[in-house]
Amino acid sequence: MNFNENHQRQIQPLGDMPPEEFRRYGHELIDWIADYLDNIESMPVLSNVKPGDIKNNLPQNPPAEPQPMDKVFEDIDKIILPGITHWNHPNFMAYFNSTSSGPGILAELLSASFNVNGMLWKTSPASTELEQVTLNWFRQMVGLSKNFWGIIYDTASVSSMHAIAAAREQLADYNSRLKGLAGRNDIKRLRLYASEQAHSSIDKGAITLGVGLEGIRKIPVDNEFRMIPSALKDAIEDDKKNGWLPFCVVATVGTTSTTSIDPVDEIAEICLKENIWLHVDAAHGGIAAIVPEMRHIFKGVEKADSIVINPHKWMFTPVDLSVFFTKKPKVLKQAFSLVVEYLKTSEDSVVENYMDYGIQLGRRFRSLKLWFIIRYFGVEGIAARIREHLRLGKLFSSWVDEHPSFERMAPVPFSTTCFRAHPAGTDDEASLNSLNEKLMSNVNSTGKVFLTHTKLNGKFVIRLVVSGLRTEEKHVEIAWELLKNELEKLID
Ligand code: PLP
Repeated sequence: MNFNENHQRQIQPLGDMPPEEFRRYGHELIDWIADYLDNIESMPVLSNVKPGDIKNNLPQNPPAEPQPMDKVFEDIDKIILPGITHWNHPNFMAYFNSTSSGPGILAELLSASFNVNGMLWKTSPASTELEQVTLNWFRQMVGLSKNFWGIIYDTASVSSMHAIAAAREQLADYNSRLKGLAGRNDIKRLRLYASEQAHSSIDKGAITLGVGLEGIRKIPVDNEFRMIPSALKDAIEDDKKNGWLPFCVVATVGTTSTTSIDPVDEIAEICLKENIWLHVDAAHGGIAAIVPEMRHIFKGVEKADSIVINPHKWMFTPVDLSVFFTKKPKVLKQAFSLVVEYLKTSEDSVVENYMDYGIQLGRRFRSLKLWFIIRYFGVEGIAARIREHLRLGKLFSSWVDEHPSFERMAPVPFSTTCFRAHPAGTDDEASLNSLNEKLMSNVNSTGKVFLTHTKLNGKFVIRLVVSGLRTEEKHVEIAWELLKNELEKLID
């Protein structure tokens, strides 16, 4: 950053930064952000600092005296930037990417400026009502019916935890809200079902809510990594015979390792028959339902009790923003509402107070981000970008399929390809695992691309995810060329 203008700063003994100073630094910071995003490709996508490098460059004690903002800005360039892994980089193809966008960044700035706490309607009517409006828009965008009511939480992990809590709350006679779970011999142990490929956040939700890891039964998957409904049915039967109480099933639309899609329609039928809460984790994949020709991924979702979709994964929304929809908001409210005297308002009977639907009291004005992004890009603009990612994902997987030294390890229902190098003559699994681990590490060390891995049936598999706002065909080509070149060097 270049903040060398010789402005004499007036140090205020009390109060905030004066408006003129705020305006100047604000403009400079916005310019810096615009340049940063414009030049992002010139930076290594993966930070290559060593553990402790950032900390060791910063004083261990806070400054007693005011410091010039210019110096703070200088340290962003000198100390912070080298320690940034650039999630906005077009060659960030690791995990499930979340990229921010211009409108998302501006909305975040505005949200911090208002700094409202949307715990109650009264504490900022616009926060509650904009959340209601944008979630109604978003619900239509992904093709869900009006039966679904929505709320914004921070992450999918927290959304799913609330789903599991609601599932527990709807159990007749359980009354865990009042009595808790510990030390009781009047209730059966709870059992939650999710596929072997479900995200670890489901396990964490079960840990948090007293279900425990023993209370989770992992259902096997087929050769395309989808939950096997007949195995779910058998597991429920078996558990009922053995004194467990089946209470919640989590199906995934877009699993983390391979983006497989559980057969939600069949799973929903089992849940309806058994009166079990069905939660759908569509944290990443659900965004693809904005593309009309991808709506099939939600087959059966209408029969679910709840679903989570993360705009902060694939809809260009700065972290964090996770959307939770449920058909049973009353159950969720019953689980969490606790209105103490100092939080009562005269409007309570006619408005929605979002604090009633979750663990947190205070809540950020996150819907501004959805509002800015949906309005700036338009639904068709968002769909066009996701459609392009789907095309690029398929293109990359076709290159893998055609190459004699690479193999695809899972179907590609979205834009994520799971693959590995498999050169002719190397068939020993342990050697293939170490070859692929080395290949990924060498590719990442170039700083040009960032890829991560998973393991499928014990095999080390590289994942390439196309979901970044700035990713174009040329970036996917860079990744592919690097993979081929680095493999050649390894097997030479
Ligand atoms: N569910 C799935 C399928 C995921 O892939 C992830 C993260 O990648 C999560 C949940 C957790 O998301 P969050 O970081 O928003 O908690």
